[in-house]
Amino acid sequence: MASHTNEIAEALRTLHRIHRQLNDLKGRLARGPRLIKAHEASVAKLQKAYDDTKAEHQKLRVSTDQKQLQLSTSEAAVKKRESQLIQASDNREYQALKDQIAADSMANSVLADEILEGMEKVDELAARVVAAEQALAKGKEDAAKAKEAVAAERPGIQEDVERLQAEMKEVEQGLPGEFKESYNRLVRSRGEDALSLVEGHYCSGCNRQIPINRINELMMGKPVTCLSCGRLLYLPEEYTF
Ligand SMILES: [Zn+2]
Repeated sequence: MASHTNEIAEALRTLHRIHRQLNDLKGRLARGPRLIKAHEASVAKLQKAYDDTKAEHQKLRVSTDQKQLQLSTSEAAVKKRESQLIQASDNREYQALKDQIAADSMANSVLADEILEGMEKVDELAARVVAAEQALAKGKEDAAKAKEAVAAERPGIQEDVERLQAEMKEVEQGLPGEFKESYNRLVRSRGEDALSLVEGHYCSGCNRQIPINRINELMMGKPVTCLSCGRLLYLPEEYTF
């Protein structure tokens, strides 16, 4: 291979490597804010779960307290009726009081069961409030850590991007004029997919065979694109075919 061809192949190899590295770095830069957003969404969800559980706990505690009060009042009423029993003036009054006491006692027993059940649930909810609070604290901590990590890696990535862009510009300037047009056009529309390494008789971008006359042109240092995928082809360091 002529040294002119070698230089072109090397420039295109370097450019392809730089395009791939830049793509990777840009992907990492874009991932940072996405990661932070995901953490923020998770914290918002945990906050809502905590608020909801806390509200549910509070509501049930209030309603259980109210039932407790209602039960005390109703129990006092039963006691009062029991004391009225001995003063009943006739059987009818006696029986009416008895029936009332029986009905109230039944209602009180149902209420007492409800209160017991409510108290159990209040305890259960209290434990869930604690768990939700801990999960929220952990979520906030994770979000802060992720934010810190993203902020910490950003300057290094940006530095690498700038260094690679400068290197790319320099190599691009060294490309022969007849390469520049198709290279620029392809890079604009395809990014790192603008270029493709030739492996044996194949285009590594699309795995299709390259006609021998096109490989010959490539070895003569001419700009050659793949007929199947349109990528600008370049040769590897050691090329035999
Ligand atoms: Zn191809």
